[in-house]
Amino acid sequence: MKEFAYARAGDAAEAAALMTERPDATYLGGGTNLVDLMKLGVADPGLLIDVSRLPYDRIEHRADGSALIGATVRNGDLAGDPGVRERFPLLAQALLAGASGQLRTVATVGGNLLQRTRCVYFQDVSKPCNKREPGSGCPAIGGAHRDLAVLGTSDHCVASHPSDMAVALVALDAVAHLRSVDGATRTVPVEELYRLPGDTPHRETVLGHGDLITAIELPPPPGGAAMRYRKVRDRWSYAFALVSVAASVSVAEDGTLTDVAVALGGVAPRPWRARIAEERLRGALPDEDTLREAARAELARARPLPDNAFKVDLATDLIVAVIRDLVVRKDRA
Ligand SMILES: Cc1cc2nc3c(=O)[nH]c(=O)nc-3n(C[C@H](O)[C@H](O)[C@H](O)COP(=O)(O)OP(=O)(O)OC[C@H]3O[C@@H](n4cnc5c(N)ncnc54)[C@H](O)[C@@H]3O)c2cc1C
Ligand code: SF4
Repeated sequence: MKEFAYARAGDAAEAAALMTERPDATYLGGGTNLVDLMKLGVADPGLLIDVSRLPYDRIEHRADGSALIGATVRNGDLAGDPGVRERFPLLAQALLAGASGQLRTVATVGGNLLQRTRCVYFQDVSKPCNKREPGSGCPAIGGAHRDLAVLGTSDHCVASHPSDMAVALVALDAVAHLRSVDGATRTVPVEELYRLPGDTPHRETVLGHGDLITAIELPPPPGGAAMRYRKVRDRWSYAFALVSVAASVSVAEDGTLTDVAVALGGVAPRPWRARIAEERLRGALPDEDTLREAARAELARARPLPDNAFKVDLATDLIVAVIRDLVVRKDRA
């Protein structure tokens, strides 16, 4: 592991000043992803600026039902927050489906959003990888791609985004609050934080050097919405999603779907908002045929590779199963 310096920032201005001085600096959250990548030689920052103790560790629930979640809130604390469990249950479910209790105790909201792909070639510096070394090639396309993406990929990269939490946030229309090194603040929908790979897979987000995530804002959930996060993986724990679905639906008196939000994980380089399926379902009666047709329409754009083609059917079935389950539960309620 390359030698590096460490500094703990007391406030955002101090973090920004350190970042401005050192173009080779990187923010450190809980370190559960970044430090692993440093050990592997994939990341080699000269300075780690520890932002995990900045005063962004509160979860504020507002009277209108919205919430502001600080970027240094630990994943475990967020999953256990009573207001989150009550108003945004799919977010708590997504967090609890990820990593392990120990990791969630350390990992932060900001770090979770910016964790890197688990593509095995990306993590192995002895192999080429367009994301790590632009122009070096993508061995995953002809190699180990079973776990990788089928939607939003390019001929240059087929990596999938690993975060469960981010999929839930995208389904909930969450917005990230950002602070740049000059102190300016702005907001970006979480969905738009991430770039698709195109021919520049090394450019993963819209963040500039030193942009700090300070909070995530959740708008009030639609009235009467039923929500669920469901993850399919190879093992019960310590496994990233093969496919996951985060869904929130509201059902009208006549049984038609009113508000519908669906996001997919494990299938794309970023949390994938299933807008085509949503469009087809809004105002429709959620019978089996309609659900399946909507899910198929969403997956029609998939460009699977030989060993991950199963994800197309799996994602289709999972969308159908999750929404059917939510609708049935509402019938019972
Ligand atoms: C064994 C194992 C299993 C796992 N399983 C899962 C799983 O099933 N599902 C899942 O979703 N995740 C899983 N994870 C990943 C885990 O969720 C992430 O490692 C964790 O969320 C990262 O958070 P962190 O605070 O430790 O980030 P760090 O490692 O500290 O940082 C990650 C990145 O975020 C940047 N960063 C951190 N904070 C900020 C900020 N406020 N503003 C701007 N940039 C920032 C850092 O510079 C770095 O680039 C697993 C990890 C391990 C080790
Ligand atoms: S899929 Fe992306 S991350 Fe994986 S080897 Fe190809 S370029 Fe690298």
